[in-house]
Amino acid sequence: LFVTFEGVDGVGKTTQAALLEQWLRDAGREVVRTREPGGTEVGERIRDIVLHHRGHVDPRAEALLYAADRAHHIATVVQPALERGGVVIQDRYLDSSVAYQGAGRVLDADDVRRLSLWATEGLLPDVTVLLDLDEADARRRLDADDKPFDRLEAEKADFHARVRAAFLRLAEAEPERFLVVDAAQPVEWIAELVRVRVTERLA
Ligand code: C5P
Ligand code: MG
Repeated sequence: LFVTFEGVDGVGKTTQAALLEQWLRDAGREVVRTREPGGTEVGERIRDIVLHHRGHVDPRAEALLYAADRAHHIATVVQPALERGGVVIQDRYLDSSVAYQGAGRVLDADDVRRLSLWATEGLLPDVTVLLDLDEADARRRLDADDKPFDRLEAEKADFHARVRAAFLRLAEAEPERFLVVDAAQPVEWIAELVRVRVTERLA
């Protein structure tokens, strides 16, 4: 089973991924928790490039770097774990590319999606949890956690709004795959909604 967490920064993806991981481990499942960009040695180096040079990489080059990271990560980590019957829990996947490289950087959403699907030989998650939150709340949470709000991106006034709207459009287009959760709800409440959906799909 392949479960991904999506949403803008500061919505609690990592927290929810960790809670789901623990719950599945307690139930005796093999779990691989990973993330994009990153998740492999090659991927972490690509992550350094894209995050360090953010806003200064040509949008198409950026999309290709994310796709390269994704191709390597899926081939070497995710697909083998799924073939062993494990559950893969992943922080961000192709929906992030459609939202960030597509809507954020204003590339065509279908192009970005096709590129991702080519990179991954068409692998789609069984469950995608979209944690949805408005920008003010996301910013407040990052501040509270003492994590820097992305100033570079913040300068582009509507970047976050575009990314958020793109995630919601993706969820609307694939209601079977997506579970959309209001990220302002209590952490435990959200975790329970996620467990219910994952249990359904494991059955
Ligand atoms: O969620 P995480 O902290 O790993 O994401 C790091 C940053 O990478 C995020 O701030 C996000 O803006 C960016 N990102 C991106 N395109 C992706 C995935 C992440 O721009 N496909
Ligand atoms: Mg995170």
